[in-house]
This record gives sequence, structure tokens and C-alpha cells, in this order.
Amino acid sequence: MLDCVIIGGGPAGLTAAIYLARFRRDFALIDGGASRAAWVPVSHNHAGFPDGISGTALLERMATQAIHYGAPIRRGEVERLAGDRQAGFTVTLDGIVLHARTILLATGVVDIPPALPDLRGAVADGLIRYCPVCDGFEIIDRTVGVIGHGAGGLGEAKFLRSYTDRVSLLSTDVTLAPDDALRRQAADAGIAIVGSPVAAIVAEADRACSITTQDGEVHRFDAIYSALGTRKRSALARMIGAALTDDGCIVTSSHQQTSTGGVFAAGDIVRGLNQISVAMGEAAIAATAIHNMLRGVAVE
Ligand SMILES: Cc1cc2nc3c(=O)[nH]c(=O)nc-3n(C[C@H](O)[C@H](O)[C@H](O)COP(=O)(O)OP(=O)(O)OC[C@H]3O[C@@H](n4cnc5c(N)ncnc54)[C@H](O)[C@@H]3O)c2cc1C
Repeated sequence: MLDCVIIGGGPAGLTAAIYLARFRRDFALIDGGASRAAWVPVSHNHAGFPDGISGTALLERMATQAIHYGAPIRRGEVERLAGDRQAGFTVTLDGIVLHARTILLATGVVDIPPALPDLRGAVADGLIRYCPVCDGFEIIDRTVGVIGHGAGGLGEAKFLRSYTDRVSLLSTDVTLAPDDALRRQAADAGIAIVGSPVAAIVAEADRACSITTQDGEVHRFDAIYSALGTRKRSALARMIGAALTDDGCIVTSSHQQTSTGGVFAAGDIVRGLNQISVAMGEAAIAATAIHNMLRGVAVE
């Protein structure tokens, strides 16, 4: 019986692994190898790296630190989670069953991608972006398009208006095109609406994108933000009966415990701000709460 199984090895899971290893706990970290952080070309808002750091470099450093303290990191996709705090939990992957007294879910979310050949290259070049909180600073006074629908798309476009006055809202689907009320709100915020849906996005050689709309018009942008939302990796949380928000994020206590006792959660999969520093902070709280619970301290 392990003290804990951490499911997910992004910034949240790896931070928890560093903490649990240093608490001298007997645990395993299982990771499917699809961290959102691996998409980050260079992060300029993550504290401690004045020249920025790429997501892959940060993940490598964190894994090295966790392994240095003896964290057992294993590649694999957890398929099944069952059990409870009294009897213990079972974690099934690749035909193996692990038994643990507590669980930390750090499974993250997946960005819903715009249809674009070589999406990875376009993200690496900063042409397609997902996170205005992360890199809005880098597009000051540039020409920016936001692909998104309804209040979500408009909200992201409004956020970007504090960096540039050249923001356009684009849609991918004629049935989701902005209605009159949304058009009025966009106009009030100084946001242009491109009425015809996007037919094609082409990354150009001079670090710009051109978008061809279904009516044949071509629009050029320095960067496109995709505000199409995320798919939550909450299947295991559902399996174990943890309470979720309407859009599939895990609800936790102030100690990161889910509504299922002994199951904790941290990072993007938890309701809140999707940022590396938040994932790390939540994981530090979760790992310490897990250690305390295993010491017999009551944990909220
Ligand atoms: C293009 C881009 C740029 C960004 N830039 C920044 C930035 O500059 N600053 C910033 O703070 N944030 C940035 N972010 C957000 C940041 O990447 C996330 O907030 C962060 O990665 C969340 O960490 P996490 O550990 O919660 O999830 P993730 O990093 O997504 O890790 C989750 C891990 O869990 C694994 N997993 C899921 N299900 C299972 C399973 N069943 N079994 C085993 N493993 C599983 C996945 O394979 C994955 O490795 C950016 C995101 C993107 C896409």
C-alpha cells in the first residue's frame, strides 16, 4: 500500500512529487506525457526566470529535482481509479494495479485546437496563442485576432484590448457567429468583428498569419488567440465520485481535497486560474495536506 499515487506529471504533479519525496513518503507518480506546459514556447511571466523559460525546460528541471530526491516517475496512462479513504484506493494502468492510501489528481486540461496544419509549429512561433494572461504583454500595439464564440470569445478580446487597440473577433462556425447584442458590446469595447467564419489560417514567413474567411476575404494578424476553450481531463475524478463544476473542473477545499475524502487535486483541472504558478502552489498545499493526513492530522 503506497502512501499516495500522483496522477499527472505536469507542473502540479511534479511539484507534489518534490514535496512528497522530501516528506519521505512512499508514492508513485504516473504521467501520460501530454503536459500543457510542453506547448509553452517561452514563458515570461513565470517568476524566477528573468529571461523566460520554455515549458519543456521547466518540466525537465522539475523532473530532475523530483528524481534527485528519489521520486519514482513512471510513464503510463491511468485507466481506472476506485476505492475510498477507509479501504484504500486502486489505480489501474497497463494491466497493473497500484494500491494507495491517498490520491492526487493533477491531470490538467487540453486546449480545443483551431483547425490548422502544423499547429505545434504555429504555437512555437507565437502565431497561435492560448493564454492572454501569459503573453498578452508580448503583443502590445500589434494586430491581433481572437477566434472564439459568445461571451467567452468576447471576454478574451476585451482582455487583450488593454494591450492593443487592434483586436478583431473571429468565429469558426456560421451558426456561432456573433448576434446583435454581442456585436454592440464588441463595438462599445472597440473590438472589430469579422463577420464571415474562418475558412483557413496560414502561417506566413514574416511571423504573421493570414486568415481567409468563407467570403474569400484575407485578413492579416501578428498573432491569433484561440479562445475555443478546453477539454477537462476529469474522467478519473468522475469515476471516484469527486464533485465537478458544470464545465468539468474539480471542486476542492482550501487544502485541495476533493469531495471524495483522501482524493486531492491540483493544477488546471481544479477550478481557478490556469497558470504554472497556481498549479505549483496548489500542489504544494495538496502534498502537505496529504502528508499531514497520513500523520493523522485532520485535514479539511
Ligand atoms: C501555449 C501555452 C502557453 C502557456 N504559457 C504559460 C505561461 O507563460 N505561464 C503560465 O503560467 N502558464 C502558461 N500556460 C498554462 C500552463 O501550461 C498550465 O497552467 C500548466 O501546464 C498546468 O499544469 P498541470 O500540471 O495542472 O497540467 P499539465 O501541465 O497539463 O499536466 C497534466 C499531466 O497529466 C497527465 N495525465 C492526464 N491524464 C492522465 C492519466 N489518466 N494518467 C496519467 N497521466 C495523465 C498528462 O499527460 C499531463 O502530462 C500556457 C499554456 C499553453 C497551452
